Amino acid sequence: MSTVEQQLDDLQAEITSELPSDISVSSVKYEGPELVVYTRDPKKFAQQGDLIRKLASKLRKRITVRPDPSVLSRPEHARQEIMDVVPEEAGVSDLDFHADTGEVVIEAEKPGMVIGRHGSTLRDITKNVGWTPEVVRTPPIESSTVSNVRSFLKQERDERRDILERVGRQIHREEMSDDEYVRISTLGCCREVGRASFILSTPETRILIDCGDKPGAEGEVPYLHAPEALGAGPQNIDAVVLTHAHLDHSALIPLLFKYGYDGPIYCTEPTRDLMGLLTLDYLDVAAKEGRSPPYESEQVREAIKHCIPLEYGDVTDIAPDVKLTFHNAGHILGSAVSHFHIGDGLYNVAFSGDIHYTDTRLFNGAVNDFPRVETLVLESTYGGRNDYQTDQKDSEEKLKEVIREAHEKGGKVLIPAFAVGRSQEIMLVLEEAMRSGDIPSMPVHLDGMIWEATAIHTTYPEYLRDDLRDRIFHEDENPFLAEEFNHIDGGEEERQDVADGDPCIILSTSGMVTGGPIMSWLGHIGPDPDSTLVFVGYQAQGTLGRRIQNGWDEIPASEVGAMNDDNGRGTLSLNVTVETVDGFSGHADRAGLENFVKTMNPRPEKVLCVHGDERSVQDLSSALYHDYNMRTFAPKNLETFRFL
Ligand SMILES: [Zn+2]
Repeated sequence: MSTVEQQLDDLQAEITSELPSDISVSSVKYEGPELVVYTRDPKKFAQQGDLIRKLASKLRKRITVRPDPSVLSRPEHARQEIMDVVPEEAGVSDLDFHADTGEVVIEAEKPGMVIGRHGSTLRDITKNVGWTPEVVRTPPIESSTVSNVRSFLKQERDERRDILERVGRQIHREEMSDDEYVRISTLGCCREVGRASFILSTPETRILIDCGDKPGAEGEVPYLHAPEALGAGPQNIDAVVLTHAHLDHSALIPLLFKYGYDGPIYCTEPTRDLMGLLTLDYLDVAAKEGRSPPYESEQVREAIKHCIPLEYGDVTDIAPDVKLTFHNAGHILGSAVSHFHIGDGLYNVAFSGDIHYTDTRLFNGAVNDFPRVETLVLESTYGGRNDYQTDQKDSEEKLKEVIREAHEKGGKVLIPAFAVGRSQEIMLVLEEAMRSGDIPSMPVHLDGMIWEATAIHTTYPEYLRDDLRDRIFHEDENPFLAEEFNHIDGGEEERQDVADGDPCIILSTSGMVTGGPIMSWLGHIGPDPDSTLVFVGYQAQGTLGRRIQNGWDEIPASEVGAMNDDNGRGTLSLNVTVETVDGFSGHADRAGLENFVKTMNPRPEKVLCVHGDERSVQDLSSALYHDYNMRTFAPKNLETFRFL
């Protein structure tokens, strides 16, 4: 008998002895990090309010209880009873019964009302019907990404259970080594921005953290073939942890599956969905630009299938000697500071991923409070000594001023913006400004992936800032549903109509004017001297956005597909006013990064400054050393640090 079998037998005996004698346990299984307990008496189990909680804390495991398939009531009966228990206001839109596991997935507009106070309604459901309920939110704005991911996972349910069972056995395997050490190897994003990737290793386990591309440098990928990574074969990696969905952290995750990796990806649920959206778009863009992408959409599906979503604050076993906990990073939807607890109190490492330290309109500021942490791996994007950002309040005032001026002239305001994060932040500024009368009410047209990204945000309000979350829970206060917002889905014809119409605001991708519908908008709006083009995000060297910012006013017509301006020179004349409003950033600035470390509890002994250009990481590293007397490093790629 294998050690895992033995372990499960022992657990079954221990659980049985803890339970009242009239509750039986028919089997116990690992599914990913969870221990699943099958019982022939699910109703009695549910009647004992906090039995599961007690078992979980006794066994120090995440526990799920499910009915043994032999005792399930018929779905037709269960359906009616569930509808009787759940209040009508919950807005249940779908019930999906899975007899193989005894689970019923309840999709509702207001999941909180299906869950009830401290889970009381969920327990009532099990008490009445025996099935184990699981609740998902009906997105308030329809999202094709969310519905595609959900229906794909449903279709792949059997294979997913096999994966989870295999992963569960891996996590709970017997430890083989008596050695003790903790090492971090840098595979990318050191003294550069882009291709984030690290290996955290112990004698027992190797974990890959992030696997991104380098924007503007397609060939430069993380050093995945280093001996401590895939160099020793794809099975060398136990688990992948993804801090957030931005492509410089996630783009090459699907590539791992092409190389034969077959293990879990830990991330939050919104990160999983956004990764699906962004990596599929990444393939799309590559195809349009005539590049051969490094992997196919099949590998994106594999990646999604292998995702194990975790919520903020869940302490989760991901290897025999490693526990992972995600905390809000304040950067984009679902972004996570990733805390690793190694061994039994042996060592603790936190990877910041990308962070925003203070609150923004969208998110609460990054969490920097941990039970213990000895080493911090810290992003340094704005770590340079002069990298201070304009206060967001001032930026908002300036943006409103620009909009008022354009409106007075009867012109339009065109804003190139990234689909995820920046766009929603600007939408919130505009909604409030129009509601309060700060700027005149006018249509705000959203083009490219912005609408879809917004829909994903409203699917996961739990991940948004407290007060915004509360507003989304109340349908009539959901700011993203304001009547001014219009989704451009009619293509070129609709754009022409908007261009011919009254003053309005247009938000469109791509954020650096490197492709996407913004090119077409430049053709429509660019020649109009009454209109204004506003940059609200960083424009990288070499992008059309940067060139326009620097004063370019003649653009090759071929680049923008311009049809409505033929000056006979094959170029489009830009007559719009060009403005730049800084200060809308998903990243902490220099002060924010220092404050993150200064107020960190407990303060780490060592800090690795990464994810910034040479000057930024050096500046930040020496400032933290001088100010807080901690050991700091600005590593290069392919360095390895031993911490214990
Ligand atoms: Zn990011």
